[in-house]
Amino acid sequence: MSDFAQTVKQQADIVKVIGGYIRLRKAGAQNYSGLCPFHKEKSPSFSVHAGRQFYHCFGCGQSGDVFSFVGKIENAGFPEAVRIVAQKCGIPLPKREFNSPEEAAEAGQRRKLLDLHETAAAWFEEQLRSSEGALAREYLAGRGVSAEAIKTFRLGYAPDNFNGLRDRLAPLADADTLRASGLFSSKDSEDQSGNVVPGRMYDRFRKRVMFPICNESGRVIAFTARALETGDKAGPKYINSPETPLYSKGQVLFNLDKAKAAVRSMEFALLVEGQMDCISVYMRGIQNVIATSGTAFTEQQVGLLRRQTTNVVVNFDPDAAGANAAEKSIGLLTEEGFTIKVVTLDGGLDPDRFIRERGVEAYAAAIRGARRQSDYLIERVRQKFPGASPDAKIKQMNDLLPHIRRIPQKLERDQFAHDAAQKLGIDSAVLREELRQAAMKRQDHIQARATTLTEVERVLLRALAITGGENEAARRLAVEAIVAQPARFEHLGAFPCLWALAGRRADGQDRDPMDAVEDPAQRALLAEVLLQEVEPPSEGEVHSAILHIQERALESQRRAVIALIGEAEAGGDFAEVVLLTQQKMELDRALRQLHNQEPPHSHS
Ligand SMILES: [Zn+2]
Repeated sequence: MSDFAQTVKQQADIVKVIGGYIRLRKAGAQNYSGLCPFHKEKSPSFSVHAGRQFYHCFGCGQSGDVFSFVGKIENAGFPEAVRIVAQKCGIPLPKREFNSPEEAAEAGQRRKLLDLHETAAAWFEEQLRSSEGALAREYLAGRGVSAEAIKTFRLGYAPDNFNGLRDRLAPLADADTLRASGLFSSKDSEDQSGNVVPGRMYDRFRKRVMFPICNESGRVIAFTARALETGDKAGPKYINSPETPLYSKGQVLFNLDKAKAAVRSMEFALLVEGQMDCISVYMRGIQNVIATSGTAFTEQQVGLLRRQTTNVVVNFDPDAAGANAAEKSIGLLTEEGFTIKVVTLDGGLDPDRFIRERGVEAYAAAIRGARRQSDYLIERVRQKFPGASPDAKIKQMNDLLPHIRRIPQKLERDQFAHDAAQKLGIDSAVLREELRQAAMKRQDHIQARATTLTEVERVLLRALAITGGENEAARRLAVEAIVAQPARFEHLGAFPCLWALAGRRADGQDRDPMDAVEDPAQRALLAEVLLQEVEPPSEGEVHSAILHIQERALESQRRAVIALIGEAEAGGDFAEVVLLTQQKMELDRALRQLHNQEPPHSHS
């Protein structure tokens, strides 16, 4: 690790940084816990240690320092993770901070692309204010979008011009980077041997209202562009940025950057379909709103959301497409253990129109009155397959069963099945049995935890994890004992971890104990001990732990030797008996020595 990374690591507060991504609760003097962002779970097995600056998940075994967390969650390489953490902590960046030219190039390109998007967003904003933007301003005013909303969401206008943005950005980057930004199109051709010959680049977005899409940190990474005109010539109503190194459609939730804080404090997220709905709702003070941008949820989006909350109120458009998207999203969220409620607005209105026609109070009331997902789904199958004929009931049931099976919690499955039977009037024994089976089916995940440490192992692990001079004598005592006679410790379950820690330098670069241990199971043991630790052990405690372990090891060797002596005697092998008896005497002597050992003097 470079000096700069080391500095950042020392100054960064891992609890604060991780707490910016997921909800953490204080769970001990120095330790915090929350739902793991790296695997599905309902109860928290993810821990962060403030003092030791590491995180560990007992569910999936992910573990590491602040850089590894940010790297994983932002899908960034090490140098970029360092940069992100430095930025979050307000530490100025040095000029060069890369391990290899490839890394530098990759991070360089990402940064360049972010810069291009930032400049593009500002340019679109400028165009909206210009005389060319009059039509777009009119359109936005007609949709009830305030000047404040335009400013907050950085809405803009792409003029009816093939070269406007290109001319603005061309001086800032080379052709490859401009191409990679997704902001331009080109008519590429093929030469005779089938190689692509890139054509001239021109602006991808023209005569459109521009909605910037931001990542979780609020940086612009893509755009949604809405056509100002309709008709054949205007092209599709909405077009999005293509997939780029910055942007992948299924990995972003619109407005999550702004909604994050409110989602956490209100403990639920309001999910709407369109960006216009989202802006409209947000600007009227309901700030925990995010949009899926018209498609059903992806697993990555679920992951993004889970870091903030597992409670969702869904308010999709009431049309068939909206209902289908809602159903798909509900399905996925259910599987992932979310609690879901569904809002359907009177009069078949979308959120934006509902608020404009009936006011934000009425909308807030509708959200409070959201139905449980089971009620919503039962109502929906009744509309989809109306009637009470046996045939209709079977169709209703078949529609519902997958939803019921998806729910991770048994109690909730039972409740859902019960409600369905009652509300749909299922009296057939066969159908009831199917419902019961659906409720039985899914099993909750059971987490295997490695908690096989003995008290003496805990003492040694805590001693070996001592860092930075304090209680150094206790650490050295443990190191010397293990290094001098590893055989006496080998029977311990935590031996690989003890051995790795004993070989660590506690003052230099590899000072972090969690970094010294590679095996995931052993890391879990160490994490468990470190998360529980209050004070490092004293020399006296370490001394008696070592004595205890050595005694146990010697005694078990002694028992083995005695058994061998018995065998040798029975077999008449007296040379062997003599040899073994000598071994036994040595063990006796070692045990006596152990008992006579004085505890170390206290230095205080
Ligand atoms: Zn995990």
